[in-house]
Amino acid sequence: MTATTRVAIAGGGLAATALAIQLARAGLEVEMFDKAECVSALGSGITLQGNALRAFDRLGVWEQIQEAGYAFNGLTLRAPGPGAVIVADMPEISMGGPAFPAGMGMYRPELARILTDAALDAGARLHHASAVTGCTSRDTDVDVEVNGEQRGTYDLLVGADGLHSAVRSAIGIDLHPRRTGMGIWRAFVPRPAEVTHTELYYGGPMYIAGYTPTGEDSMYAFLVEDAKEHVDVTDEQAVEIMRGQSMAYDGPWNHIRDNLSTASHVNYTWFTEHVIDGAWNRGRAVCIGDAAHSCPPTIAQGAAQALEDAEVLGELVLRGGRIDQAMWDEFHERRVERATMVVRSSVQLGDWLLEGRRDADVPGLVASVAQRVSVPA
Ligand SMILES: Cc1cc2nc3c(=O)[nH]c(=O)nc-3n(C[C@H](O)[C@H](O)[C@H](O)COP(=O)(O)OP(=O)(O)OC[C@H]3O[C@@H](n4cnc5c(N)ncnc54)[C@H](O)[C@@H]3O)c2cc1C
Repeated sequence: MTATTRVAIAGGGLAATALAIQLARAGLEVEMFDKAECVSALGSGITLQGNALRAFDRLGVWEQIQEAGYAFNGLTLRAPGPGAVIVADMPEISMGGPAFPAGMGMYRPELARILTDAALDAGARLHHASAVTGCTSRDTDVDVEVNGEQRGTYDLLVGADGLHSAVRSAIGIDLHPRRTGMGIWRAFVPRPAEVTHTELYYGGPMYIAGYTPTGEDSMYAFLVEDAKEHVDVTDEQAVEIMRGQSMAYDGPWNHIRDNLSTASHVNYTWFTEHVIDGAWNRGRAVCIGDAAHSCPPTIAQGAAQALEDAEVLGELVLRGGRIDQAMWDEFHERRVERATMVVRSSVQLGDWLLEGRRDADVPGLVASVAQRVSVPA
């Protein structure tokens, strides 16, 4: 069996760039193919938990991330209605260990820029407007098709191409993300000085209304509702929907409403869940990140799990320099159960909200996930 030298990655998102940084730094020839025209400009925020921050540290980009994001510890729960009464102020333990804050809010395009630049600096190549459309995977190599044409033969193809992964279908895994029944409105708005960490309002017309700081001057706000189609909604209508739905929430929500505009990148997404049952590879093609699993952001673990997939795969490919069944067995042993546990727990939290369960042990479930993922992957 020859050493691994040529790696193709479908996608240019979090999982793809995290893997590309590791492999290209070690001298492998890495090509990323992303169907998007440019580095993603989806203008909302993201919450990164401690284990995601720990992964950034291992990739050598933690300093840049720290500078660009907004670190915080603690979570506040408020009630809907006048005065936005504080129900609980809860300390949070970092899932990345004491060297990292419990959480960090970040502007997504800024995160994408830092990771992409680091991958390119390491020597990886990124081809935009390049959709991976098929592959033929064998035990020793894999042919990759881009935009309908044969692109070349590689030692490894990594499907880091998100929720509707073309690589997942190409290798015969017939799995489609299931909608969990909730949808989320998100907007990017100025941060009032009083918002210094994530605050969540449970109850009222929304399942959750909340916001997370992403920088000195910015934060993102979100409203979680029963999933709706919202087809052909204009930017102006989206702003009006968020204003209307947030009327039940006082406190910083007054500031958010005053500042919502068509420049707030208001967008709407459904919550989904899936996880590939059993092996995530077929021969030399493998899925990681959202291509392998997705969950509602109820614990904000999607990015962390994608980064951990990339970290473990990179470590194993580089450790032996060879890809064989023993490597795949170790990869699956370290990733499948852990990612599945995160998906199941995130879905459970959403289901309890959908069912209106007031007696559910939310803190207990969140604490048990935190304890599991605080141990490095
Ligand atoms: C509403 C919502 C809120 C969320 N909030 C959080 C949060 O606060 N914290 C958190 O940790 N997680 C959150 N997540 C989850 C998180 O965004 C994902 O888990 C994470 O982005 C997965 O990274 P990825 O690289 O696997 O996929 P992606 O980031 O989706 O990247 C996939 C890439 O593949 C490209 N691509 C797609 N098809 C092809 C193809 N055929 N060929 C080539 N390229 C292709 C795309 O252009 C894209 O660049 C949220 C998810 C949703 C839906």
